[in-house]
Amino acid sequence: MSSAAVRDFETIAPLLDPWHRRVAEEAEEFARSVLLPLPAPEDDAAARDQARQVLTLLGEAGWCRESVPADYGGARERVDTRACCLIRQAVAWASPLADAVFALQCLGAMPLALGGDERVRRRYLPAVAEGRAMAAFALTEPEAGSDAASMTTRARRDGDGWVLEGEKHLISNAGIADFYVVFAVTDPEARSRGITAFVVDADRPGVVFRGAQVLSEPHPLGRIGFEGVRLAAAARVGTEGGGLKLALATLDRLRPTVAAAACGMGLRARDVALEWTRSRRQFGRPLSELQIVRSKLAELATELEAARLLTFRAAREADLEGPRLTVLASMAKAYATEAAWRAVDQAVQLSGGRGVLADHPADRLYRAVRALRIYEGATEIQHLVIARHLLAEAE
Ligand SMILES: Cc1cc2nc3c(=O)[nH]c(=O)nc-3n(C[C@H](O)[C@H](O)[C@H](O)COP(=O)(O)OP(=O)(O)OC[C@H]3O[C@@H](n4cnc5c(N)ncnc54)[C@H](O)[C@@H]3O)c2cc1C
Repeated sequence: MSSAAVRDFETIAPLLDPWHRRVAEEAEEFARSVLLPLPAPEDDAAARDQARQVLTLLGEAGWCRESVPADYGGARERVDTRACCLIRQAVAWASPLADAVFALQCLGAMPLALGGDERVRRRYLPAVAEGRAMAAFALTEPEAGSDAASMTTRARRDGDGWVLEGEKHLISNAGIADFYVVFAVTDPEARSRGITAFVVDADRPGVVFRGAQVLSEPHPLGRIGFEGVRLAAAARVGTEGGGLKLALATLDRLRPTVAAAACGMGLRARDVALEWTRSRRQFGRPLSELQIVRSKLAELATELEAARLLTFRAAREADLEGPRLTVLASMAKAYATEAAWRAVDQAVQLSGGRGVLADHPADRLYRAVRALRIYEGATEIQHLVIARHLLAEAE
């Protein structure tokens, strides 16, 4: 580990177990030596190609094994949220695209690990662990975003099985995934208790990639249609009607990892800002000697330190199955993504005109970090969750 990474690790060490240090060191080494040299993808097609390449690299290096339990080829008895956070922090530092690939392996595997029956787990999880199968998680629809319960994708009974009809959008890995975990209405009367999860192979007849939704920082995202897709009874994940609960349980466990990815991008922004302000001379001295610049660096570093403490506190709660997971995960996700965004904005500002050039690392981070404040529950939604808990505790 570099000296900065060692210092960064000591901040969170009290929230970790001793074995986490090796995960942090190896993830950092992998990020620096394998991911950092990859060319930044210039467009959507390049991002799609690189995402598949990165999945192979992550699989070969053993990192995807952290996304599934040991019984199915995973690295640990249960998925360890703090290990996933350390990986996302290191990987996002080097490559936001690689971070998204790792994140989606976790997001696709978790509902299967939590709710899938033995046959489903055996079929999908070892392939996810080895990086052979790319996962996707399909919850959001054009008319159902923050209010996921208002979804209209429908699964109707068909003999022993089901027929799936509808459209999901803003789906990461759409068009390149091998399977989708899809949430669909099975009982419209029951509203949030009438949603069920299914695992759907991408090559099933009726699964249609309806096009890419292109982001300013390339990331494979798009729309997926389900046109009369026939599913066996065994494709159901968890109980009938338990789909939304399963989605929320998955998101609770993975929100600390979104916070960790934000911290990784924030730390990269800090490193960019430090390197530049120490070497760039104006008014006869390095920018880092100007007091206003120092104040910006201080604020940025302090917020990231706080963000990482909150992130690993929430991740620890997930690993210990503590009662405050939901509220801590929301706090971590909201605070860390907002703090990382401010840190990246300062890195752009401190880089001056160069900072807004399209191939400047600060500009790329600026485009990449923005989505984290929105996906897996926007900041406003996390604030609603936090306030609801606060008020319930005060009752
Ligand atoms: C890069 C990226 C990747 C994504 N990947 C996936 C994926 O893999 N799978 C998936 O299912 N989805 C994915 N999404 C979708 C993402 O989860 C949604 O964009 C998000 O949940 C918000 O939904 P929405 O876009 O429909 O916004 P809306 O729900 O329309 O919200 C718009 C704004 O209104 C605010 N708002 C909404 N309701 C309230 C309220 N009650 N009180 C206060 N403010 C409110 C929101 O906070 C937000 O600021 C991804 C999105 C992005 C950008």
